[in-house]
Amino acid sequence: DGDSYGVLPRPCRALVLLNPQSGSGRALDDFQAVVQPMLVEADITTTVFVTERAHHAHEKVRDEDLSQWDTLVVMSGDGLLFEVVNGLMERPDWKEAMKKPLCILPGGSGNALAASINYYAGYDHVAKKKLLTNCTFILCKGLYTQMDLVSLSTASGKHFFSFLGFGWGFISDVDIDSEKYRWLGSARFTLGTLQCLAKLRVYQGRLSYLPMATEQGSSPAPRDPRSPVTNGHIPQPAGTDAPGSLPPDSLLVPLGQPVPAHWTVVPEEEFVLVYAIYQSHLGTNLLMAPAARLHDGCIHLFYMKAGISRVTLLKLFLAMSRGTHLDLNCPHLCYVPVRAFRLEPRVAAGIMTVDGEALACEPVQGQVHPRLCRVLSG
Ligand code: ADP
Ligand code: MG
Repeated sequence: DGDSYGVLPRPCRALVLLNPQSGSGRALDDFQAVVQPMLVEADITTTVFVTERAHHAHEKVRDEDLSQWDTLVVMSGDGLLFEVVNGLMERPDWKEAMKKPLCILPGGSGNALAASINYYAGYDHVAKKKLLTNCTFILCKGLYTQMDLVSLSTASGKHFFSFLGFGWGFISDVDIDSEKYRWLGSARFTLGTLQCLAKLRVYQGRLSYLPMATEQGSSPAPRDPRSPVTNGHIPQPAGTDAPGSLPPDSLLVPLGQPVPAHWTVVPEEEFVLVYAIYQSHLGTNLLMAPAARLHDGCIHLFYMKAGISRVTLLKLFLAMSRGTHLDLNCPHLCYVPVRAFRLEPRVAAGIMTVDGEALACEPVQGQVHPRLCRVLSG
């Protein structure tokens, strides 16, 4: 449709939100040395907003007069873009605000969205300066498209919009445990993986999901005739469409209630990891969901059942650098494309991650909101 793609105007006014502490601390130097000269050639003028603390970028975009800018550029890791997306969604005019094209330039240690966009654009698998150059080139070209977001809510009432993924167990522990090695750049994840392998543990909980396939009718799940569900949508109470109100989570029922009857409940309740990813890459060297695209309307749900050996787990992680982990046909690793999911950990201990940011462990559910924002994509 006509809304799917667009191009930035020239001259183009970009607000650059830059976290000087991200990655190995070189984001500002790299911006001036690599990015700025290319943008000048492309007639893109920049105003750099250097963040001074966590949440600074969130507040900036929540309160900013956005008419001054043609694009919002994030030069950091995925964490700063997460702040920007959620800051924009807090605005009363979020519907308009989310039309502002966003751009990610990899300046952090976790640059999963940048790696994913580089992959969707058909460029070679690269990291570091080359990835930054490719992403800057994508900004120079100025082509943007729509991106799905996933709305996540927790039992304690937290609510987020997420563009990358939700994780629990092994990978999330690696992500957060390795933050102390941020100075290593993306190598922090390799070191963290080896450390977490050594103390491999099991996470108990219940995982449920709404498969993509039920909508297409290819394998309709048996439905409870009492359930008031039509076509996968839960009827919403009237009045949820007031101006400024957030898009309704029409596939979800409150966390206190059982999941709808047409959802699938995973029979196993012991996991090594659960990861709901909506982009191809989990990191520059982790091609977890090769089939994912920016607006495929899909959550790519992976879970690993307990009982897997350390050697097999290591093999899977090594295969994930090429995206061939599913070819190993490991019976412990399951993959299912879904539109919504729920995770209910048995105990509220440890952490979960949303777009690589830590979150205290508690019941969570989420659903995809197709094409909720726009992103520079080449
Ligand atoms: P990285 O990939 O290195 O983790 P991120 O962009 O994910 O980089 O940023 C990590 C965290 O740093 C985010 O939670 C963000 O809120 C926070 N942050 C942003 N600006 C600053 C700052 N100036 N000082 C410290 N932390 C910051
Ligand atoms: Mg981060």
